[in-house]
Amino acid sequence: MTLAARAHAHLSESALHGNLTHLSRRAGVPLLLPVKANAYGHGLREVVTLAARHPDVWGLAVATPREAAQVAAQVAALDTGRPVLLLTPPTPTEVPLLADLGVRLPVASLAEADALPAHARAHLKVDTGMNRLGARPEEAVRVGTRLAERGQLEGAYTHFATADEPDLSFAHEQLRLFQTVLNALPATPQPLLAHAANGGGILSFGALPGMRLARPGLASYGFAPTHLRDVLPLRPVMTLTAQVTHLHTAHAGETVSYNGLWRAQQDTRIATVGIGYADGYPRNATGRAQVLIAGQRRPVLGRICMDQLMVDVTGLPVQVGDPVTIWNDHDLTVTDVAAWGDTIEYEVLTGLGDRIERRVAP
Ligand SMILES: *Cc1c(COP(=O)(O)O)cnc(C)c1O
Repeated sequence: MTLAARAHAHLSESALHGNLTHLSRRAGVPLLLPVKANAYGHGLREVVTLAARHPDVWGLAVATPREAAQVAAQVAALDTGRPVLLLTPPTPTEVPLLADLGVRLPVASLAEADALPAHARAHLKVDTGMNRLGARPEEAVRVGTRLAERGQLEGAYTHFATADEPDLSFAHEQLRLFQTVLNALPATPQPLLAHAANGGGILSFGALPGMRLARPGLASYGFAPTHLRDVLPLRPVMTLTAQVTHLHTAHAGETVSYNGLWRAQQDTRIATVGIGYADGYPRNATGRAQVLIAGQRRPVLGRICMDQLMVDVTGLPVQVGDPVTIWNDHDLTVTDVAAWGDTIEYEVLTGLGDRIERRVAP
């Protein structure tokens, strides 16, 4: 006997691979693919398996030491292994553990450089204006020089704060500062792996002089900022479906769901669907949300619940167990759901819960 999940994330290998190919070509360099936050909600294990097969993926970038250890263990078992870079500072006790796993570590101070185990490889983190992490340019040169003397400087990176906006003047300034740092660093035995562009940066700038990797996150999963939508033919990787768990009729005058926000004007056939805000469907989309069911776009009725939502299926041939498309790659996308929920694709995708079963399709 198997107990099935009520909602499924279907991942398209061809969409992911197509996106990675387009992004790498446009950047002119291989990719350091961000798989933080459960691969933007797509499923860490599934995405790492798919990404490690792609010739343009140099390595994988994660946000936390636990993610780093998980991905490092997974890629170590693949015959297509890839380097893993941790993007945020580990604690002193985590450094040797991560270094033993081969994880590339971010370094932003002389103290961090001096505390590295001899076999650790470092990526110098430069703060060029994001003001989140990294060494300021002048200090970065000193730290990078120390890392180079120790033979541990593999890469250097910075992060754009505004590369997804139409006005690129601040991003240009960040890039100029970063290139100043790169030019001041001593030569390394292997060419230094410099990287700056996130997805917005690749779409906005294309190839950047002096860069040897790029880090497209959301764009790899198929989404671009509105004004950059026509730059590359990116395709959403995930289709999300849920199941009809119950059907009934609400009579004219009755209300549906918590707080009675929606009232039936006439008898209404209602499908109850097994997905809710605990799975990551935005509760804020209440009153605006739609789904695709039996080939039609239908409204979600009343308050979105923790585990369920209700859909008007009057006149449709729907049965218990039927699939409901929560979003797909073309006519009802994560972008729509994010707009209904007053949020962004990043937040909707990374909020997807572990009750959703991830499935890979060709
Ligand atoms: C998350 C992240 C990225 C990817 O950003 P996108 O906007 O998803 O392309 C790149 N670099 C760093 C340092 C990040 O934290």
